Amino acid sequence: MEKCKLCLIRDMAEKADIYEYVKKTRAMLPDAEKASDELYEERLSVCMSCESLLAGTCHKCGCYVEIRAASKASECPVRKW
Ligand code: SF4
Repeated sequence: MEKCKLCLIRDMAEKADIYEYVKKTRAMLPDAEKASDELYEERLSVCMSCESLLAGTCHKCGCYVEIRAASKASECPVRKW
């Protein structure tokens, strides 16, 4: 079976441990620095239709997008969000 290249970590059962790390990292951000749930989902939706997303990782910056999108001050490396 071919894997979906444009998937987030949360959608990949084999990366459950990494997703736990993603959730903890997001939860540890102070509220003042955390992107709202709405902004977070908006950002991830852009990533999920971006050709640079490969199995949860942005190939423009090397980050897990679910961590990069969590901080209010973060930006997409090519300014898609
Ligand atoms: S952070 Fe930007 S470049 Fe990277 S996958 Fe998301 S939209 Fe694409």
